[in-house]
Amino acid sequence: MTNIAQLVANQRTFFLNGNTMDYTVRKQQLQKLKSMLKENEASIYQALKTDLNKSKHETLTTELGFLFMEIDHTLKQLQNWMEPIKVSAPITHKGTKNYIIKEPLGVCLVISPWNYPLQLALAPAIGALAAGNCVVIKPSEEAKATSALLKKLTETYFDPSYLTVVEGEKETAQELLQQRFDYIFFTGSTAVGRIIMREASKHLTPVTLELGGKSPVIVDKDANINLAAKRIVWGKFTNAGQTCVAPDYLYVHEKVKFKLLKAMKKYIRSFYGRNPLSNKDYIRIINEKHFNRLSNYLVNGSIVHGGLTDPLTLKIEPTILDKITWEDPVMQEEIFGPILPVLTFDEIEEAVSVIRKQEKPLALYYFGENGNTQQQVMQYLSFGGGSINDTVFHLANPHLPFGGVGESGMGAYHGKYSFNTFSHKKSIMKQSTKFDVPFRYPGSKLSETIL
Ligand code: NAD
Repeated sequence: MTNIAQLVANQRTFFLNGNTMDYTVRKQQLQKLKSMLKENEASIYQALKTDLNKSKHETLTTELGFLFMEIDHTLKQLQNWMEPIKVSAPITHKGTKNYIIKEPLGVCLVISPWNYPLQLALAPAIGALAAGNCVVIKPSEEAKATSALLKKLTETYFDPSYLTVVEGEKETAQELLQQRFDYIFFTGSTAVGRIIMREASKHLTPVTLELGGKSPVIVDKDANINLAAKRIVWGKFTNAGQTCVAPDYLYVHEKVKFKLLKAMKKYIRSFYGRNPLSNKDYIRIINEKHFNRLSNYLVNGSIVHGGLTDPLTLKIEPTILDKITWEDPVMQEEIFGPILPVLTFDEIEEAVSVIRKQEKPLALYYFGENGNTQQQVMQYLSFGGGSINDTVFHLANPHLPFGGVGESGMGAYHGKYSFNTFSHKKSIMKQSTKFDVPFRYPGSKLSETIL
C-alpha cells in the first residue's frame, strides 16, 4: 500500500469507528483549527508574503479574517444544524413521524488553488469537519510556503486520521484521485475541474467544483459613478486581480465611461500609489508563466492607465485597457490578473443580450440605481452569485451560498451551505404500530381506506 492509500485507509477506519460523530468532538476540531490559526498568525503572514507578497492587511481581511468568521459562525450554529429536521406527511401516511437526519459522508478530499492558498484550503475543511467527516487537504504546489506551513501546523494540531495535509504537484493530486473518497471538493480551473469530475466518476464520488470564468461588471448610465469606481478598483485589484470573483471585464454605458475611468484612475492612485510597482505591499503574479501570459494581453487595445510590468518581481501595474473588442485575446479566457478591459454599450438590453451568449460566469456585478433594471439584470442573466452596486463582498456573507453554475462550477458552500454540502440528508419515516391503513395492500378496497 502506498503512503497515500494507507493514509486514506486510516481515515476510513477512524471514521467507521464513529470517532467523528459527536457534537463535542466536532466542536473541538473547529476550536483547534481556530487556535492553530490564532497561535501562528506571524508564520501565516510570513508564508503569504513569500508566496504572493501579501500584506498583513490583505492576509487579515481576505484569508484569516474570513476563516475566523466562518469558524465562529459554524461554532455558533453547529448544534442547531445537526438537529434532525421534522417534516410533515400526506394523509396517506397518517400515524407516521417523518424527519431528516444529517449524516457525515466519510472521508473527504479538498483540492485547493494558489490564489487564496490558506482560505481556500481551510474554508471547505471547516464545513467538512463540522459535518463530522475526516479530511485530506491537497494545497496548491504554486503557493509553496503556505502549503508547507499548512502541513506543519496540521501535523502539530490534528490527528492525521482526522485531518491531514498532503503536499505535492498534480501527480500527487492524481494519486489521491485514485483512492476512494466519499466527497471531493475542488477549487481551481475549469480545465482541471473536468479531470476531477472524470476521476471522481470512477468511484461514483460526488463533487463540488468551485471554478472560474469571466465575471462582468456592468456600469449603467444612472450609477453612482464615484462609488462604482471605488468598489470596482477594490474588487479588481485586490490580490492583483488573482481572485475567482474579481470583475474580469468592465461593460460600461457609453455616456458615463469617461467619468468612470477618470474616477477609477483616482482610486488606483489612492490605493496603490503613483508607482504601484515599487509599493512594497502590492501583490505579485504567482509565477513567470502567468506573468508572461498576462503581459501578452497588453499588446492589444490601448492602455489608459498602468501597463508597466517588472519581470524581476513579477508585478504588473493595475491596468485599464480601452478599445478592446470581443475578438481580442484578453476576452477569450479568464484574465486572473490586474488587467481590466473596457467595453461599452448604448442600451442595457444590448449588454444583457451579449452577456447571455457567453459562458455562465462565477459572478456578475451591476451598478445602477433603477430598481426595475437591477431586478431584470439579476433575474435574466445566469451566474454563480453577485451584487448590485458592489463587487466581491457578497462572498463574505456566510448566509449566502457561494458557488458557480455551468462552466463556473457546481455545488456551493460557506456557512450552513458548507455543512449541507458535506452531509447526507437521510430521510426517515417512523411508522405507527397502533393501526395499519390498508389501502396499499393488494385486495384492499379503496372505499375502506382514508382516500
Ligand atoms: P488549477 O486548476 O491549475 O489547480 C488547482 C489544484 O488542482 C491544485 O492543487 C493543483 O495541484 C491541482 N491540479 C492541477 N492539475 C491537476 C490535474 N491534472 N489533476 C489533478 N489535480 C490537478 O487552478 P489554479 O491555477 O491553482 O487556480 C486558478 C483557478 O482557480 C482560476 O480559474 C480561478 O478562477 C479558480 N478559482 C476558483 C475559485 C472559486 O471559489 N470558484 C476560487 C479561487 C480560484
